[in-house]
Amino acid sequence: MKGKNATIISVGNEILSGDVVDTNSTWLAKRLSTQGVAVEKIMVVGDDVEAISEVIKSCHSDFVFVMGGLGPTHDDVTREGVAKGVSKELERNSEAERALIERYGISGSLLKMADMPEGSEIIANPIGVAPGFWVDNIIVLPGVPEEMRGMFDGIASFFRDDRGIRKEGWIMTDKSEHEILDVLNEAVKEFADVKIGSYPYVDREGEGRSYKLRLKLLSADPDALNSAKRWLEERIRTC
Ligand code: ATP
Ligand code: MG
Repeated sequence: MKGKNATIISVGNEILSGDVVDTNSTWLAKRLSTQGVAVEKIMVVGDDVEAISEVIKSCHSDFVFVMGGLGPTHDDVTREGVAKGVSKELERNSEAERALIERYGISGSLLKMADMPEGSEIIANPIGVAPGFWVDNIIVLPGVPEEMRGMFDGIASFFRDDRGIRKEGWIMTDKSEHEILDVLNEAVKEFADVKIGSYPYVDREGEGRSYKLRLKLLSADPDALNSAKRWLEERIRTC
């Protein structure tokens, strides 16, 4: 059985230039996968209306998460980009505007934070100022990690799909991919219901360094996962 899927888009020139690491996508991808929503694509675009709109138009996932660029500064253009991407007018949301005025005493050009594509639902921001919004299948959240996480937590239950929930298991080994390649290929054939990923990394201890390997096993069937894990651990030990 297949669950729902999602695309994650991070917006910001600071990510494209390498000044900021896109931890938002990793955090959200982990949360969605754990909740049974498969992330099929993660993308980064700059603070540019056209780029944001184009990437939105290209998305066909059940859910599309857009993060960053919701603040009041000149380079925060996510609202315009999303509105263009869904072909809707950007309009001032009166509920969001009232909240900005009453709660934060905000006025003037800062009120542009209440502009959203027509028909948007507001997503409350319990920590920061800029509200998020939800339009069609697109969920738009701020870039500040604490704000983004707090806001996702508030709506997380909408994005739970039991059909997509998988059990995961990990195997750590000092053996190299070369050494266990035959065993790995055999396991892939033997356990068709278990997805196996192989992730080598360099382990540094003092001056020395060595390659180590993490294997990830993923399955909707816990029994199949446990059998595959036991089978692999035994073979890896003796290969
Ligand atoms: P604000 O209302 O605070 O301006 P915003 O939605 O406009 O929020 P951004 O201006 O895009 O958010 O980003 C604010 C800060 O959040 C950045 O300086 C950066 O440190 C951090 N940030 C933005 N995007 C990410 C990301 N994808 N991963 C990690 N941190 C990020
Ligand atoms: Mg900003």
